[in-house]
Amino acid sequence: MAFLDRTARALLLTELVVGMSVTLRYFFRRKVTLNYPHEKGPLGPRFRGEHALRRYPNGEERCIACKLCEAVCPAQAITIESEPRADGSRRTTRYDIDMTKCIYCGFCEESCPVDAIVEGPNFEYATETHEELLYDKEKLLANGDRWETEIARNLAADAPYR
Ligand code: SF4
Ligand code: SF4
Repeated sequence: MAFLDRTARALLLTELVVGMSVTLRYFFRRKVTLNYPHEKGPLGPRFRGEHALRRYPNGEERCIACKLCEAVCPAQAITIESEPRADGSRRTTRYDIDMTKCIYCGFCEESCPVDAIVEGPNFEYATETHEELLYDKEKLLANGDRWETEIARNLAADAPYR
């Protein structure tokens, strides 16, 4: 019986017809695949991507060199050096993140009292060398300048849940 069944299926091309009908059905449905990198999926406001150091609207750095982020980082990926300015305010002279050590836990962002260090929405920063992932203050501030609009929007969206 099983032999007859298999033979009938083979002769009538049943599997082929069923397969084509599935293809045809999905052909007219909404596509679930994305044509990356031209199309990208939505990201939540808590997405933890590439790090950035933010500034205030007047251009002043937010970071006050409290070193909480350095202390809390479980991967010891952050290195900070600081000294007081002429006006008495304390600012970093060095702010490095070894992105190859980072485990993207978000503790640095959570610990920062002034929302200076954040993990922004950028996830496209693959490099060809290790050195390119050793971020310094200049690179982190440039990231902050580049992504400030998106970062501020995400922080505002997440604020009610903090
Ligand atoms: S996300 Fe976590 S591991 Fe990465 S720098 Fe911040 S605290 Fe360190
Ligand atoms: S980024 Fe924030 S937590 Fe880290 S040293 Fe600066 S002010 Fe302190």
